[in-house]
Amino acid sequence: MRIEHALSWAQQELAGTESPVVDARALLSHCLGKTTSYLYTWPEREVSAAQLTDFKSLVQQRKNGTPVAYLRGYQEFWSLSLKVSPATLIPRPDTELLVEKTLEFNTSSAPSICDLGTGTGAIAIALATELPYSQVVAVDKVAEAVELAKVNVTLNRTANVIVKQSDWFAAVGNDTFDIIVSNPPYVEPTSDYLAQGDVRFEPASALTSGVDGLEDIRRIVAKASEHLNSHGMVLIEHGYNQGAAVAEIFAQHGYTEIVTFKDINALDRITLGRWHTCE
Ligand code: GLN
Repeated sequence: MRIEHALSWAQQELAGTESPVVDARALLSHCLGKTTSYLYTWPEREVSAAQLTDFKSLVQQRKNGTPVAYLRGYQEFWSLSLKVSPATLIPRPDTELLVEKTLEFNTSSAPSICDLGTGTGAIAIALATELPYSQVVAVDKVAEAVELAKVNVTLNRTANVIVKQSDWFAAVGNDTFDIIVSNPPYVEPTSDYLAQGDVRFEPASALTSGVDGLEDIRRIVAKASEHLNSHGMVLIEHGYNQGAAVAEIFAQHGYTEIVTFKDINALDRITLGRWHTCE
């Protein structure tokens, strides 16, 4: 079968799903081991029988809802390609804002950074790449996530990242940092959002937190000041409706210069707080 025919078959199969055209292209380019632009350039080239079998199987799984990132085994984030698995959240474009704001507000060429709940390692590796003189500690409480993040550190050659198994700060010891970042679970467990799209396949432990979704953010903010150098900052990703609540949590714990940033959809997404040790 030709590339163009394989694509139109898949688009029909996926009709009614979220993004049939993009997904068909992503899956076929993956099965061919080529870029998506190859598909545009060579629509008349033949897909081999083995490639077609693979492709059909992936299209069926996609039709049943499996995220494209899990089917391909990787996801782009920042300028990186990251291996993914059902043990962690799939890195989201929203989270790139956390990387952007961290870089914007950082004032050191060699900051010490801690990424809590690193999952694939996305935030830690992006920061380590942009700040090659930084020292980054990335932690996750899930053993499979720790293994995955280590693989991604190796694949992206970021020697300045150490990955550790830790439930938030539990295994961080007395280490202190200039910057603490986190994309913790924050979705309210009753949210309809959890029954739609890719999130149905992602681990609940990476998505929901307590009755209001803010349990882990409270824990992180309460403990972070013990692990911050003076003038250090914490940046946390949160839900679009949690900006004011998260800013309030920071304020209650004595942080200053608190600011909430909006994502590309003009929704509250990241809150920053700074810590000043009394001198
Ligand atoms: N923003 C994420 C989503 O779209 C939520 C992930 C999280 O809880 N950190 O699913």
